Amino acid sequence: MLALEGLMMNRPLMISHIIQHAAMNHGKREIVTRLPENHQIHRYGYADAHARSQKLANMLTRDMKIKEGDRVSTIAWNSHRHFELYYAVSGVGAVINTVNPRLSPQHIIWILNHSQSKAVFFDSTFAPLIDGIAEHCKTVKNWVVMGGGELRGATKTQTDAYEDMIAGHKASYDWPDFDENAAAGLCYTSGTTGDPKGVLYSHRSTVLHALASTSSDVIGVGASGVLLPVVPMFHVNAWGIPYAAAMTGAKLVMPGARLDGEGLHELIESEQVSYVAGVPTVWLGLLQYLKQTGKRIDSVDRVLIGGSALPEALLRAYEDEYGVRMQQGWGMTEMSPLGTVNVPLPKHAGISREEEIKVKLKQGRLVFGVEMRIVDDEGNVLPRDGESSGHVQVRGPWIASAYYRGAGDESFTDDGWFKTGDVAHLDEDGFMTITDRSKDVIKTGGEWISSIDLENAAMGHKDVALAAVIGRAHPKWQERPLLIVQLREGAKPDAQSILDYLSGQVAKWWVPDAVEFIDAMPIGATGKVLKTKLREIYKDFKFPDA
Ligand code: ADP
Repeated sequence: MLALEGLMMNRPLMISHIIQHAAMNHGKREIVTRLPENHQIHRYGYADAHARSQKLANMLTRDMKIKEGDRVSTIAWNSHRHFELYYAVSGVGAVINTVNPRLSPQHIIWILNHSQSKAVFFDSTFAPLIDGIAEHCKTVKNWVVMGGGELRGATKTQTDAYEDMIAGHKASYDWPDFDENAAAGLCYTSGTTGDPKGVLYSHRSTVLHALASTSSDVIGVGASGVLLPVVPMFHVNAWGIPYAAAMTGAKLVMPGARLDGEGLHELIESEQVSYVAGVPTVWLGLLQYLKQTGKRIDSVDRVLIGGSALPEALLRAYEDEYGVRMQQGWGMTEMSPLGTVNVPLPKHAGISREEEIKVKLKQGRLVFGVEMRIVDDEGNVLPRDGESSGHVQVRGPWIASAYYRGAGDESFTDDGWFKTGDVAHLDEDGFMTITDRSKDVIKTGGEWISSIDLENAAMGHKDVALAAVIGRAHPKWQERPLLIVQLREGAKPDAQSILDYLSGQVAKWWVPDAVEFIDAMPIGATGKVLKTKLREIYKDFKFPDA
């Protein structure tokens, strides 16, 4: 019993409220898409997007019989149709499961079976992938190509076409209100070991995260902004931008399948983009293009860069040569994803450029809604002194409390915190600096590689007695895998034969960039290879082509 209950309306936080607000108040503000199927430019306003989302909602519930709680998946680029799916699927009470097409077909099949997805919406560029996985996904009743009927021939799999399917439906749908804690989205993240883990967002977490991100010290988006999320909609909801943009009436620019420097530059210029978000690899590609062509991106005010640490050279190049403000953010799938964003404080006014660079290379400062503590191996909380490094733990209303149909919950503490697997220190102003990672994964160009899967594959080679994979710095991909091998008695070191062998076992981009041979693998007390020791031994290692 409450001593005295507040007398305010208890309106639930619903994702459908966001699109209704955008349609009513920013109806003509544009969503511009470079269409994935033909690279042509498509443009319409939030009111059109809302109308088509309602047609889609009618189609989902009437034709496909999608019910509350059902999972509907996408394998798709950033586009206006993907945007419509975000709102329609969650709006009818179902769950949108955005699948990363860069995962191996085996992982994608695993995810679609684990989520028990009823339908998959995909871009025609992924037709060969769909043909390879469809027969293994038993719960999927509908495969829908995102475009017109002419795209149906792209797959051998029996498919429907998005435009044909929504065409006959009414552009009005009564979005229901329900419990704001209902599931709305499902995004899988690569685990350290074995299978991907599902993070199940709710309406409440999604709306609160979007609200927080619109603050001027976070993404800081408003009606006059023009946002280009290069970060894919299959990566933690494009960091929430499709929601934040609609909430504020910012113009949204969707790059479709063209994420190369030239493609991005063209869109930035033609749409006068003011704010861009993506991983470092994307910014490196664009920078190379700008340097080669002498072109500029003068409309861009700020860049949100995250997913991996912001390289200093990149920061200097964009800020000093192109007048763009680089803003580093840190977060993760389990955090919706925003945790920290690097925005200076009043006390930083007037500091020297070199001091400023030091500040900007930190992962950022805590966003309201995210609480953080740094703990040592025994779980003792360390001081916020900007020096004491330890394990990062977080809690908050947009942070996962468990994994969807997850077996182990070793990622969560008994007192309600999530263990991020990052190692960092925190200072008295809430600036966090990552110093290491305790999770055994490698992040390359914004995508995860499971070191354990690679090690298991390498152990299958006849000459390999023990294999370990660690991530080492790489100028283009931030990190690439280095394979360390202890050979069997009598075997001769032959790196190429091991790499050739791996090429047949794992995705091409997973194959390590180099192999190093070690006489005796360092082994810890519990019989496991000591990765920390290996990182120390190979700390100065440089990839040959880097
Ligand atoms: P995202 O799509 O935001 O990259 P993931 O869940 O795939 O989310 O990855 C989250 C992990 O990426 C973090 O736990 C951290 O290890 C790494 N990461 C994210 N942002 C940064 C950053 N700014 N600096 C260093 N590492 C980062």
